[in-house]
Amino acid sequence: MLFVQVLVDCPVDERLFTYTWEGSIQPGDGVSVPFGSRMVGGIVVTLSDQPPEPERPLKSIESVLHRGFLPPAYWHLLEKIAHHYCTPLLYVVQTALPTGLLNRNQRRIARLEGDPSKLTPPALQLWQHLGTYQQNEVSWRALRKQFLRPEPWLKELESWGLARSYLYSPPVLRPKRQTMVSLVLATAATATKRQQAVLATLQHLGGEAPLSQFLETAKTTRPTVQKLVEQGWITLWDQEILRRGDSDLPYPKDQPKTLTPAQTLALSQIQTLTAGQTLLLWGVTGSGKTEIYLQAIAPLLAQGKSALVLVPEIGLTPQLTERFQQRFPGKIWVYHSALSLGERYDCWRQMLAGEAQVVIGTRSAIFAPLPHLGLMILDEEHDGAYKQDRPAPSYHARTVAQWRSVLEGCPLVLGSATPALESYHAAQTGRYQLSHLPERAGVHRGLPEVTVVDMREELHQGVYAPLSRRLQQEVQAMAERGEQGILFLNRRGYHTFILCRSCGEVLTCPHCTVSLTYHETDHILRCHHCRYSRPEPEQKCPACSSVHFRYFGTGTQKIESAVRKLFPALRVLRFDRDTTQRKGSHRQILERFSRGEAELLIGTQMLTKGLDLPQVTLIGILAADSLLNMPDFRCTERAFQLLTQVAGRSGRGSEPGRVVLQTYSPEHPVVLAAARQDYLQFTLPELADRAELGFPPFGNLVSLGWQGTTEAQVIQCAQEAAQELSQGAGEVLGPAPALIPRLRRQYRWQVLWKLPPTIPPQPLLSHFLDKVTWPKGVTCQIDVDPLQLW
Ligand code: ADP
Ligand code: ZN
Ligand code: ZN
Repeated sequence: MLFVQVLVDCPVDERLFTYTWEGSIQPGDGVSVPFGSRMVGGIVVTLSDQPPEPERPLKSIESVLHRGFLPPAYWHLLEKIAHHYCTPLLYVVQTALPTGLLNRNQRRIARLEGDPSKLTPPALQLWQHLGTYQQNEVSWRALRKQFLRPEPWLKELESWGLARSYLYSPPVLRPKRQTMVSLVLATAATATKRQQAVLATLQHLGGEAPLSQFLETAKTTRPTVQKLVEQGWITLWDQEILRRGDSDLPYPKDQPKTLTPAQTLALSQIQTLTAGQTLLLWGVTGSGKTEIYLQAIAPLLAQGKSALVLVPEIGLTPQLTERFQQRFPGKIWVYHSALSLGERYDCWRQMLAGEAQVVIGTRSAIFAPLPHLGLMILDEEHDGAYKQDRPAPSYHARTVAQWRSVLEGCPLVLGSATPALESYHAAQTGRYQLSHLPERAGVHRGLPEVTVVDMREELHQGVYAPLSRRLQQEVQAMAERGEQGILFLNRRGYHTFILCRSCGEVLTCPHCTVSLTYHETDHILRCHHCRYSRPEPEQKCPACSSVHFRYFGTGTQKIESAVRKLFPALRVLRFDRDTTQRKGSHRQILERFSRGEAELLIGTQMLTKGLDLPQVTLIGILAADSLLNMPDFRCTERAFQLLTQVAGRSGRGSEPGRVVLQTYSPEHPVVLAAARQDYLQFTLPELADRAELGFPPFGNLVSLGWQGTTEAQVIQCAQEAAQELSQGAGEVLGPAPALIPRLRRQYRWQVLWKLPPTIPPQPLLSHFLDKVTWPKGVTCQIDVDPLQLW
């Protein structure tokens, strides 16, 4: 008899319960177990032949629904993540699995086992509808299609076990959850019979359906659906149909290109990687990295293996996805968190069944359950989007990929024009293989020429506009040549620093050489690494006594109106968080721009990723300074990466590119290196600095943050923790107020714990957490290997 700990999918805090079982069973198996009066789904976590203490009566597992639901190597990966990031295994499982896989609804688990023939008839019908729809699509542009689904509250109520008949019947209140239920029932009672029938059909179809098909199936009309939307019953949204690519598509199948000698060498290095090895493919923007990925994957598919390709953001890299689809028609699965639950779920099902060959996805796709993984690729590996902020675990996809590479015996390729310092250092010290592509591939494509403009000089000449005279000339010339340009601006709403526009002086912390952050509420400048703070300076620069001394930060909107004033004849598009709120709208803006509907695009750093627009020959970087003065030791690295990536968007077609980089500190090492687009000029001295300070990759970091409504309590927690941690190994920075010291009425303080590279944070961190307790009302957030300040 075995004693089996099962992760039970039920809304209770402690979800590990012990059951008995006779016969074979493995961690990662999907089971059904009795829980209260019901049967629920669960996953086997551990096995033991000893009964738990204290002895008590145990129930038995009802049945094993799916053997190897999560294969052993995959299970070990999840355990490793839980351990390293100090997160309960449950949260890791929830992060990895799409919602609804580990579900109270057992039928869903059962559905996973087999082929579509096991689907319930309506689900099968919907599945087929979707399938046919995708196969018949031949249009070149992105396809959009309207879908509908019930409002989340309906689903939620159903999950509480409120039957549909109950929901749609007149109000009968229960003691608990009274307000929510009564509110809903008040609404529900207003649904007409006709509407109820329509809703029932939607539920019957699996909860989500494409609008056009739904109208047919439910024998209803658009106005009825519209009415239901207005009354808050269902949501209507339009979504991109991700084409699988097909032989019918109106473009010829893309053929492999003849590789350049540098590309050939890189490809052979990839092909000789052994299990668990990592190769850093460092190639300037446009050097043909994607072409190498494609050619590395092709032979794997012939061997029946699969490949996983991660990108920082799928919406901004449609071209990459398209190139894969053209090269491997019908073999590409796209997986990211913007998919609807149903889509994610179906995608998983196919991946587990071994149907997916190449999966392209964002961070969470690192959990794609591909059975015969032959290669993993992380493109733009330096990108911060690979690190999850919240919810826990705050994992980094690159770290997870490395573990997975070892556990599943599959090589890993990291591609970037500006590798993360960690990655470059690993290549330098032989932990990674290194392959370098120093030149652009294809026809006569030099890197763009970068001009640095000293904005202090502009001020002295009486030019107050956000565009320097040089940039204005370049915009004029670009427009006359009939080409396009992008104006780039970095903006982080919450962060302000103080800069002298006459001499470029920035107020920095005397202890940490990071810029001080201005806090408007109490007129204080603070360092977010240590506890240093100082009052707001007089309205005069301490270095040169100029009065052009001020808080920095200009929005894209301001720039837009300035540009319209300067160039009334130019058509301008704006691309920032405000204009891209709606799903898919960033893609629309980019499409309009690439169709030539505007000469100028103004945008924030969202614009930097993987854009390949051949007509763009001018890039203006309006204020490099806000990049250079973030209160964080990684700020220079990010600034260099951003500036290089932005510059790389220029001159990707047949015309040479130009970049104008405006700054108040033209002598800043990052500006100098970025102007030459010289990665090593920036990286080597920066690594030396990091080594001296013991920051990554020459040390391990853990960030601990506390928040609560009583400031004194929060500070006390941070102080006690700092005290406790400083007894042991490593060094403690802080306590200091968090980057956002007060958020939603909660005070926030942080401590940064720095360990030598030889000492991993675990198990020290767990021991520490076992010893300490926080008062009620204070929560602690832990980020292992943090990329951002809290
Ligand atoms: P990266 O991924 O490094 O930015 P890409 O693979 O996108 O580079 O290549 C940039 C451009 O050069 C693309 O238009 C691509 O089709 C082209 N290209 C890549 N390799 C070759 C080659 N060997 N011969 C001709 N063109 C190439
Ligand atoms: Zn000054
Ligand atoms: Zn400091």
